[in-house]
Amino acid sequence: MVNKVFDPRGADSSGTYRRPRLVMRLKRFEDIPVVLAKSRTYPTPVRMVGADYSQTRCVGGDGGTTVDTAGLDKIVEIGENTVRAQAGVRVSTLVKALAERGLELPLTPEMGQISLGAVAVTTLPQASYAAGLAQMSSCVTEMKVITPQGKQMVVTERERDLMRVLRSSFGLLGVVHEIVLRVQPMSAVKIDYQVLSLKEFSGRFSSIINAPGALRLHVSPFHDRITVERRTLDETSTVSRSGIWQIQNSVMRNVLPAFGSTVGSVLAAPGLRAAVLSGMHRALSTGARGVAMYAHEWMRELPKEAWKARHTYSLWAFPQADYPKLLGSYFAFCKAYYKEHRYRCHVVNGASRLHQDRGSLFSASYSGPMFTLEPSSTGDAAWDDFLIDFNDFASSHGGTPTFNQTRALQPEHVTKAFGERAKLFRALRQRTDPLNRLHNAYFSYLLG
Ligand SMILES: Cc1cc2nc3c(=O)[nH]c(=O)nc-3n(C[C@H](O)[C@H](O)[C@H](O)COP(=O)(O)OP(=O)(O)OC[C@H]3O[C@@H](n4cnc5c(N)ncnc54)[C@H](O)[C@@H]3O)c2cc1C
Repeated sequence: MVNKVFDPRGADSSGTYRRPRLVMRLKRFEDIPVVLAKSRTYPTPVRMVGADYSQTRCVGGDGGTTVDTAGLDKIVEIGENTVRAQAGVRVSTLVKALAERGLELPLTPEMGQISLGAVAVTTLPQASYAAGLAQMSSCVTEMKVITPQGKQMVVTERERDLMRVLRSSFGLLGVVHEIVLRVQPMSAVKIDYQVLSLKEFSGRFSSIINAPGALRLHVSPFHDRITVERRTLDETSTVSRSGIWQIQNSVMRNVLPAFGSTVGSVLAAPGLRAAVLSGMHRALSTGARGVAMYAHEWMRELPKEAWKARHTYSLWAFPQADYPKLLGSYFAFCKAYYKEHRYRCHVVNGASRLHQDRGSLFSASYSGPMFTLEPSSTGDAAWDDFLIDFNDFASSHGGTPTFNQTRALQPEHVTKAFGERAKLFRALRQRTDPLNRLHNAYFSYLLG
């Protein structure tokens, strides 16, 4: 276990404000109970940090002890149907190790720097193929957890209710140090694109959602354009594995890493914003047929310094049934906002279709099938103000936020979206951690 006094500046350049008194680099999980027991040496709150890529203050140091899990980096065992690994392993490391054995996770995110601890306890919705599996945490079948009192618990899917709560626990109910995830044989995914106006999207919506496959949307409110990306499992796997993804990956690789600081100024050149947008859309709309790839190939690495990427998007989920109408309202909202404030997001907004998934208490698709909407930006000055108004828009349109990917969230948004589930979680948290050893100001503000 290595201690380090934290950089006293506290807030990093992204504005994500932390200020723990101590940061621990954990080497062995056996040290966790010691940290939890000694509150004088390791001040409260004790908060876990994985890859440190959350868009919010859910890690939140608050003058306490931040425990960095990166040292828990062992993939313990890869079997035919499951993999066991420690909480500090990054998803990209795991996915590559699985791919070498012809295996994959049932869901593969596009970003690689997610720790398995965060996979287990946060909200990570992904474009889904089937009901019951729309969030990364639903791939988790077992967790080894150290409780706030320092006791070890092994929880499996058999304990359904406990698992459901732990999968939404953000380090508030205990520290996860090892997990088991479901795996499956790797299969190629065929990717097709369709570029539609909002009117066309609305008219074809029922056939879009009823055809098989996972759906990812690329939404441009100011160009009245929705690119529908459909991922279907490709049994034949004979189609070309080049073309569109190479172009898209290179756009991602070249544009995303600079978000936050440098690209802001590059994009300020007149005309260049539109060039980036249309370049992406050109990439998405040409040669868009007959491309296949394996899931691990779409994973990208963001800059090593997490703060450089923090500002890029915010995420809410909305009921599938009304989604075209919601998009219409969103387009109108963006245009009205631009008229009044001269601000608009200059990056294509993403969206994913989520099948219903009740695997975790704060699942974004707990109450039914949903689509996310992810306003995206280079993180320039007016972005945070935009999100404040967007959050009110999203909440009043029946949106469900997340605690790790929705910025500028307010308690009333949480109460409206989660209602009884938030109350239940609060009661459980108070019972399991009466001394608030793991509780921070962010969750105290949002959940009580
Ligand atoms: C630019 C950008 C792009 C992104 N793209 C994607 C994407 O394509 N797909 C996607 O799914 N997500 C994406 N994300 C979101 C990101 O994956 C999530 O926010 C995720 O939570 C980050 O994982 P992490 O390991 O950095 O978590 P952290 O920020 O380190 O921690 C998240 C929460 O989990 C708790 N925690 C962490 N480890 C443990 C543990 N061992 N025990 C108990 N609690 C723990 C922390 O205390 C905190 O509350 C992106 C984020 C950014 C900034």
